[in-house]
Amino acid sequence: MRRDQFPEDIQPHLIPEPSGELVYRCLGCPAEHGIESLLYTCPDCGSVLLIHDRQFDRLKAIDGEHWQRIIDYRRMLKIPAVKGIYRYHEFIGPVIPLDSVVYLGEGHTPVVEANGLLQAKAGMRFFYKNDGQNPSASFKDRGMASALSYINFLIRQGLVDQVLSICASTGDTSAAAALYAAYLKPRIKSAVLLPHKKVTPQQLSQPLGSGADVFEIPGVFDDCMKVVEALSEQYNVALLNSKNAWRILGQESYSYEIAQDFDYAMADKVVVVPIGNAGNITAVMNGFLKFHEVGIIDALPKIVGVQSVHANPVFQYYSEPDSSKRKFVPMTVKPSVAQAAMIGNPVSMPRVIHLVDRYNQVAGRQRVFFVEVAEQDIMDWQLTANRNGHIACTHGGESLAGLQVALKNGFLDSNETAIVDSTAHALKFSGFQDMYFQNRFPDGFAVSPDPSLVNQPRYVHPKHLTQVPAPGKPLEPGAMAVFVEAISRQIAAELGLKKRT
Ligand SMILES: *Cc1c(COP(=O)(O)O)cnc(C)c1O
Ligand SMILES: [Zn+2]
Repeated sequence: MRRDQFPEDIQPHLIPEPSGELVYRCLGCPAEHGIESLLYTCPDCGSVLLIHDRQFDRLKAIDGEHWQRIIDYRRMLKIPAVKGIYRYHEFIGPVIPLDSVVYLGEGHTPVVEANGLLQAKAGMRFFYKNDGQNPSASFKDRGMASALSYINFLIRQGLVDQVLSICASTGDTSAAAALYAAYLKPRIKSAVLLPHKKVTPQQLSQPLGSGADVFEIPGVFDDCMKVVEALSEQYNVALLNSKNAWRILGQESYSYEIAQDFDYAMADKVVVVPIGNAGNITAVMNGFLKFHEVGIIDALPKIVGVQSVHANPVFQYYSEPDSSKRKFVPMTVKPSVAQAAMIGNPVSMPRVIHLVDRYNQVAGRQRVFFVEVAEQDIMDWQLTANRNGHIACTHGGESLAGLQVALKNGFLDSNETAIVDSTAHALKFSGFQDMYFQNRFPDGFAVSPDPSLVNQPRYVHPKHLTQVPAPGKPLEPGAMAVFVEAISRQIAAELGLKKRT
């Protein structure tokens, strides 16, 4: 729709203009720092940061219902810069002019209702939000679109020139970082650090294909993170892990989309997300808090954070009911099929602690819950979901398994509606499906296949059939007829088909 065709009260707000005053706000001390340079931790005390808009209250001059209409009308715009996460520009990066926005098709991922069979099994109404349908096939694109739009903005202002972006990754961060950096070449180059053999072949192929410098190092993600932290402290590089608060801002779009997709009615909603480095749950909480503060949503939805028993430091922290006795202890992780969340020392833990308190306080009751799930349940629920028409990755399985635990623990009512996060595409983790189907999970995982979920291809080549076609070697018509007849007879027999009469 053309701009002059929108209602008069929408037109002035339709196309976002740069506004606001963003600062890095420290979670460890009262300091605030300007955003002209890239900061990851507070120069005064070393704590992690969140980005705060000092003029946030200006957004309250527009009432919640008006905001809803503005955002809904923006759906009809054909301007690429507001087709992705910057539809929510005022809440995500209000200082960034639209001509600095990098849009590669991220965000607005499908919300797919589970069929009746799967909802009956799960015990409540739920939808999958398929964040695997982002450009690099995981939710990480949301945060990268934000971080790279900001860097692009710095470049266009002449504040920085050549940027070497760097990240540690369990696979998906590097895929997203390399993709967005490749789009912004030659001003931005990207290097990624991966734990050797701890990312899937599909994930490894992504930064390689985007032309990044790819380094594999011994150890797990937590070890890679230590190295990139050292690199970003000592050298002139741009850190793209979620320690970078711009990543958090972009990932808040996940909450805004859920709000919009459910017409801003959040009182009876439950949002279920897996936790690794805890950037995503940080963003999800912060996003809902911001929309709530401006009155765009009617309530704060429940949030369920899920971890595998093999990598559950956040769950363990909150398993102590007395908040004064809680103590965060990093853990050594064990192998997990939710490999992108196999993190023992989440960088965003201080953000989580800060925001969980605030979220529950604003809601006036407990609205954030934490659960742990077994590796076996992650696989079983992922495969069950996908047998019912979904494309859930192992983390999507982890989320759905977590929904079960939250229901059993009495955290949820069966008349609520859940939005379950499938954070990546199933295809990235198809190797775990193969291990399950072929019953060859290494012992460390503690997963054995449920025969009713196993599926294998069957090779059809009847013994008597001597002549078969091959590439470049078609059969003569007579031999072809014999081939088609023999193969179709065997398939029909295996499927129990009855001959047409
Ligand atoms: C990164 C990632 C996670 C974990 O998100 P955090 O922000 O690190 O907590 C979960 N699932 C997938 C597929 C991921 O790529
Ligand atoms: Zn500080």
